Amino acid sequence: MTTTVEPLPRETSVPGQTGSAAFDVLRVPLLGRFLRWRWSRVTLQVPVLLLSLVMIGHAFWGPQLAPKNLAALLTWVHFRGLVVLAILVGGNLFCMACPFMLPRELARRWINPRWEWPRGLRNKWLSIGLFVFVLFAYELFDLWGDPWWTGVLIVVYFAAAVVVDSLFRRASFCKYVCPVGQFNFLSSTMAPLELAVRDHGICVGCHTKDCIRGRRPLATGSEGTPDSARLPVLQRGCELALFQPRKVGNLDCTFCFDCVYACPHDNVGILTRLPGDELSQGGTRSGIGRISRRFDFTALATVFTFGALLNAFAMISPVYAVEQWVAEITGLRVEWPILAGLFSLALILEPTILLGAAAAVTRGLAGAPASVLQIINHFARSLVPLGFGIWLAHYGFHFFTGFLTVVPVAQNAALRSFGSPILGDPQWHFGGLPEAIVFPIELGFLMLGLVGSWIVSWSLAGELAPERTGSAFTPWAVLHALLFGVAVWIMTQPMDMRGTMLGG
Ligand code: SF4
Ligand code: SF4
Repeated sequence: MTTTVEPLPRETSVPGQTGSAAFDVLRVPLLGRFLRWRWSRVTLQVPVLLLSLVMIGHAFWGPQLAPKNLAALLTWVHFRGLVVLAILVGGNLFCMACPFMLPRELARRWINPRWEWPRGLRNKWLSIGLFVFVLFAYELFDLWGDPWWTGVLIVVYFAAAVVVDSLFRRASFCKYVCPVGQFNFLSSTMAPLELAVRDHGICVGCHTKDCIRGRRPLATGSEGTPDSARLPVLQRGCELALFQPRKVGNLDCTFCFDCVYACPHDNVGILTRLPGDELSQGGTRSGIGRISRRFDFTALATVFTFGALLNAFAMISPVYAVEQWVAEITGLRVEWPILAGLFSLALILEPTILLGAAAAVTRGLAGAPASVLQIINHFARSLVPLGFGIWLAHYGFHFFTGFLTVVPVAQNAALRSFGSPILGDPQWHFGGLPEAIVFPIELGFLMLGLVGSWIVSWSLAGELAPERTGSAFTPWAVLHALLFGVAVWIMTQPMDMRGTMLGG
């Protein structure tokens, strides 16, 4: 099946694309050469896959006390912290080294997917539902404290990636199903690096568009004829339908490097850019369309941000008091309806009221000729920097206060597996940084998020109401400040040290 590619205009710059003045990681000696190598992604995936297998083994056959189990500890303390910190300093490095994709690649050597992903599901709704489901299951089943169920979750994830991508063409699992992927896509709008075209002039003169169509034997350096489109693909193009010259930012990009491997002109780099800048940009994005017209992206940004608050709120003691109070006045003796009520309140009712109010006030103050829903869609992405700041503060707290806990757990696992302390005797006193040092770091992440949200909403306000930018900006600035205040209050409460020996 051939891929339709939009024609490019003759001009050589595309709004939102970084220019050749940007620093290019692929030009760094050795590192750049390694990353451009056809097998670089697989080389990064193999160790993560091996670690995943160790975690699965330890989940089912290791100690069932979470702080002593590699699956629970690495998944809920280290992995989550490292994902957001890697995005902050680089980009979507987890998707780049994603272990779930290796079995999928192996399966595709024998299975040729026959179907296109259903048209009605080509949006973010399914993955939003799965994202909420994972957050809900995490709280309901106390997954951080349950190695066995954590192992089941990892195995189900591997199976789902293989099944979906064995049935459906391209990267359907990453683009439409994977909740971790959606989290990473939104978070990496705040990353300082992106896969982008080095010189748009070269793309204008490029006839083959291998970065999206894939590289075929006769396509390189020749015309992209209908005949060449029927030849077998030597190197596939972007499976997430992102056409490099039209791609804007990191949304939907898995950092898989297929475009880098495929481009016959070596015209795709890993370029530096201003974090969050892509959130201010309007216009149509390749493979995505206009995000201001996609209510699924509005819902995703909302669940991402309010879910960050909810996930952190669930770690502090007031949540237990709230649950107890609801149980007493309703007489409920099971947790799930109470938790479902809490989730509905935090992820549906609260955002609907707050975003609706901000949009209605914006409409009144700025006299914007748009409906309340259109204004919500326009400004929803301004939540993302603050949401990312809250996830960073929360996951960073667990990571920084517990990053050394993996040492005694690994030592203990080796001791139990081999019968001798080949990694040394378990040093159970290992922990991490003291909370007094971590708290200012958390505050710094939250402030970065707040400033980022204000900058993005100022830019969006200018686009919506050029004559009354301040009036259009104010309601959203107040909303961001309110959410920031709630986040700071949550971070000042004593938190469960879930999954580590420090938490008991
Ligand atoms: S294959 Fe390379 S040069 Fe051609 S359009 Fe894609 S990125 Fe540009
Ligand atoms: S092929 Fe697509 S998803 Fe992969 S790095 Fe390039 S743009 Fe991103």
